[in-house]
Amino acid sequence: TPFYGKDGIYRSQKPPVVLPEDPNLSMVPFLFRNFPSLSQSTALIDAGTAESFTFFDLLTQVSKLSHALLKLNINKNDVVLIFSPNSVLFPISFLAVVGIGAIATTVNPLYTINELSNQVNDSNPKLIITGSFDAADSYNTLFCHYSDLINSTSPASSDSLWSSAVQTDVAALLYSSGTTGKSKGVVLTHRNFIATASMVTRDQECYGNSKNVYLCFLPMFHIFGLSVAVYAQLQKGNTVVVMERYEMEKALHAVEKYKVTHMYAVPPVVVALGKQKKVVSKYDCSSLREIACGAAPLGKDVIEECAKNFPQAVIVQGYGVTETCGIISIEDVKTGPPHSGSTGVLFPGVECKILDVDTAEPLPPFQKGQILVRGQNMMQGYFKNQIATNETIDKQGWVHTGDLGYFDDKGLLYVVDRIKELIKYKGFQVAPAELEELLLTHPEISDAAVIPLPDAEAGEIPVAFVVRSSNSSLTEREVQNFVTPYKRLHRVIFSRSIPKSASGKILRRKLRQRAQSNL
Ligand code: AMP
Repeated sequence: TPFYGKDGIYRSQKPPVVLPEDPNLSMVPFLFRNFPSLSQSTALIDAGTAESFTFFDLLTQVSKLSHALLKLNINKNDVVLIFSPNSVLFPISFLAVVGIGAIATTVNPLYTINELSNQVNDSNPKLIITGSFDAADSYNTLFCHYSDLINSTSPASSDSLWSSAVQTDVAALLYSSGTTGKSKGVVLTHRNFIATASMVTRDQECYGNSKNVYLCFLPMFHIFGLSVAVYAQLQKGNTVVVMERYEMEKALHAVEKYKVTHMYAVPPVVVALGKQKKVVSKYDCSSLREIACGAAPLGKDVIEECAKNFPQAVIVQGYGVTETCGIISIEDVKTGPPHSGSTGVLFPGVECKILDVDTAEPLPPFQKGQILVRGQNMMQGYFKNQIATNETIDKQGWVHTGDLGYFDDKGLLYVVDRIKELIKYKGFQVAPAELEELLLTHPEISDAAVIPLPDAEAGEIPVAFVVRSSNSSLTEREVQNFVTPYKRLHRVIFSRSIPKSASGKILRRKLRQRAQSNL
């Protein structure tokens, strides 16, 4: 098989993407490299307010904000946290931060103060940019409102503003629990974002498509929204229509109004679009050419059902992780079968190995093992966490995904299971270790373990096994109320003990089996 080498490595058969050689071309100058010709073209549209920004407006806003940050004494390598739901100001802030060589970190806007504190303590931001001041009182860190920042300066010349950042600089810390434990800062460089962006948009170059219009309701605090749906598209000169959150009718309305050509989605969205034929048919979606879905597994039947409601569009599945700056593989309908149920072929430049879980031997097609990846888009490691970094990236640079999968004889990658602890609820990360730690702070809980259970709508739901302290009459509802809304425990199972290995590791597989038979 041409895509599987004698060295046990799977490779894309497409020619690799050519990345810019100039090491000084950092993310923002790279994005604006075609500026004069794109100046009057639309970069961003806010679907809520219908406000629209040309690339000229984008450049002006980003340079104003970069300038304001410098005036606040934010320097190269300082961390700036963006705490906001999706808005056009999100990418503007992100680009302004990375443009001056500072490091952006992002959080789920639904986080509780406690969760936000964990990330603030870990990443130590010098500034928090926010759309609301609700959380501001709890911190000593400087909080700034977007609009105050932007209005604080006059337009600055961008000539020297962005000259201090280089491609090897760290651009972002995006938090992920990786294969085990609590959330850690995934260190991503300018080069990582540029590599992902070039790979994602490569086919647009090859096939000479005209400008595309992308709808982005995916959260921009997550790598899929930030790197794939926003940065990759803007640097290509495409338009990004921003929605604060997904609401089906609003999304379909935006498709009709802005003649959206591409939509990135997560499985629950594709499930709903497939089920709601009546709603879908109310809108003119004839502009839509592609729905690309990732972040969690998507079944073949779900794709087929959704495809019936969008006959003019292709529905493709992709696979990526935060640690790979968002991408590993994607279905290519020009060369492969539609609706394969696979996650498609490797992006050009991404190398992959399937390792036998027991023997660590590389495996040929049709044999299942842990998915390892290597390439220009791979993270540098976990922020200030050498142990976790060494556990995840081996000496030859292979990133261990903690996912289980196999290739078929056409080079299609099937992701079939997860050997890491992570739970994905509607595409959102839920780290069991964090929920377990939180549950253990409850005075009436003496031990706890959180595991995923399959769920038709959410993909997976978190279920907790809880050992109550003696004489406690704690109820399921009380335990559920103790955790954050989106990480809500859908089920609490009271247990006499939590099964653990000799080294104290929770035997999660055993609990998964017990939970399955319990429900
Ligand atoms: P995140 O870092 O939040 O993007 O989460 C990455 C994890 O999501 C992967 O390691 C997989 O477990 C899961 N994932 C992403 N895309 C897919 C997919 N297409 N099929 C199955 N699992 C996926």
